[in-house]
Amino acid sequence: MTDDDKVISLEVRRRQKAQAEQEAQAEQEAGRGQPARPGGDEAGEPSPGKPSPGKPLPGKPLPGKPLPGKLVWLHCPSCDTYQYTELLVAGGRTHNVCGAQVEEAVLDIDVRAEYTLAALNLERLKAAAEMVESQRAFFEEYQERLGLIAGARPEPYPFDEQTLQRLPVAQVDALGLLIPEALHDPARHFNLSGDAPPEAGPPGEAPEDDPPSGTT
Ligand SMILES: [Zn+2]
Repeated sequence: MTDDDKVISLEVRRRQKAQAEQEAQAEQEAGRGQPARPGGDEAGEPSPGKPSPGKPLPGKPLPGKPLPGKLVWLHCPSCDTYQYTELLVAGGRTHNVCGAQVEEAVLDIDVRAEYTLAALNLERLKAAAEMVESQRAFFEEYQERLGLIAGARPEPYPFDEQTLQRLPVAQVDALGLLIPEALHDPARHFNLSGDAPPEAGPPGEAPEDDPPSGTT
């Protein structure tokens, strides 16, 4: 096994682990008493790592002193736009774009809780950015290795909807990436009974001199 193969199998293992975690989380959410609704919100947005918190639990205060404050939502009925501000203005205000009288809704917030949510989101975004970076590196390397397999960089199929429906996609992951069948769950190619031989060909070596034939 070459170093590159190790990199790929590590990456595949990491991906499988992440997938198992996602599935466990989905099961956990499905097990909260509500029947699964079609088109429900369990699809959710990518939230790397941590489980998503639910509604605040009644009777369970946050561990610390809240910091009360006010957040003001502004609605322009003429433009139908919403904007928030920290500035309370007596006597109302007009929209600086169209001049219409702006509607206001003042919310009482726990500034500390809001700040904590913003901090948690920034952490999640950092984790997501790291994941994106590692996936970028992985797929750039995969393209290079595919070039080695074919003997030259292949010409991709057109990026259109028809192609998308016919490509061998095993799974769309939390980042919206199309996980190829060829990379998905390598364990299924190996049979404990020994009937199915592993795929032929030395991995990770330059192809021989036969003409590139992978363009069907
Ligand atoms: Zn307006």
